[in-house]
Amino acid sequence: MLSFDEEVGTQAPPSIVGLVSRGNPQAVLAPVGREALETSSAVDPNEFRRIRVEDKRVINGRTDVNQLVPFKYKWAWEKYLSSCANHWMPQEINMSRDISLWKDPNGLTADERRLIKRNLGFFVTADSLAANNIVLGTYRHISAPECRQYLLRQAFEEAIHTHAYQYIVESLGLDEGEVFNAYHEVPSIRAKDEFLIPFIDTLTDPSFKTGTPDTDQQLLKSMIVFACLMEGLFFYVGFTQILALGRQNKMMGAAEQYQYILRDESMHCNFGIDLINQIKMENPHLWTAKFREEIQDLIKQAVELEYRYAEDTMPRGVLGLNAPMFKEYLRYIANRRCQQIGVEVLYPGATNPFPWMSEMIDLKKERNFFETRVIEYQTGGALSWE
Ligand code: FE
Repeated sequence: MLSFDEEVGTQAPPSIVGLVSRGNPQAVLAPVGREALETSSAVDPNEFRRIRVEDKRVINGRTDVNQLVPFKYKWAWEKYLSSCANHWMPQEINMSRDISLWKDPNGLTADERRLIKRNLGFFVTADSLAANNIVLGTYRHISAPECRQYLLRQAFEEAIHTHAYQYIVESLGLDEGEVFNAYHEVPSIRAKDEFLIPFIDTLTDPSFKTGTPDTDQQLLKSMIVFACLMEGLFFYVGFTQILALGRQNKMMGAAEQYQYILRDESMHCNFGIDLINQIKMENPHLWTAKFREEIQDLIKQAVELEYRYAEDTMPRGVLGLNAPMFKEYLRYIANRRCQQIGVEVLYPGATNPFPWMSEMIDLKKERNFFETRVIEYQTGGALSWE
């Protein structure tokens, strides 16, 4: 972690210029001259040069992380603008029909109630884990200010999602202790989180620093786990379940909340994939055959864990859904993630058993920069001055 006292203790007092970091996002308050003083008595020729686009890098960059422009990673800035245009708040959504349905003893079946509680049990803490990963981990290792700007927006969206789940739990009058402790107490949820947590721990370890092939691969792996497997796979059984309820005119408020969350999460997933592909492009030596195999193994594990979660939430068929349908669906999504980051697909021929989800989520519209430009997102919140 930052230790300002330590950093300045042996240095001259930091000036305004000295308060910015040149290229080391892990030490934002470190005096600028520190590296030059440590390595040479000569002034670093890059020290006072204005930022050049061609010098920017997503990781291990040496340009000032506090200077957003000139832009190099316009795709990141555009996603930031699109996310802001998509802004929403949970309390804007009317939950009254959900509340009366939940309170009606004949409103929902026991299986539907189990599904909803398990579903919230996963999600109420999942977005907090995602926020930890971004705020305490990924952010400090990213040296492109356009990407850091998006991550700040994403962090707030994770807070909105946690707020949305809390708002549903509160609206329905669920046992908060039971729902918020599910990630400790329900094995199928705990297993998913236990899979994720080591990847958060790596990035949040104060002694972890990028800059070697090994640590750069660790960062990249963690980013793949979070973008492709957490936001891009672990959320999908849960999203499908609640949207299936909504399609049957049940829990319409919750379903609307989930639709907004899904829209945000599709963007998070796509941003993460763009970031991964940019890091690959700038650091091709990281993308070894062995590394790709490790990634494939992780994807297989995640598909298995998410399938177990599907079985646990749906021990019997419910809402026209059953666990085996999710096996195919998860394989279909996993293939998509493989294609997006450029590893060989794991389940050739897997098809989408929920065509209606395609319309709602529209995987086909999940474009990332390396395929095409994002044009599909709502921009109603943006003002036009023309
Ligand atoms: Fe997210």
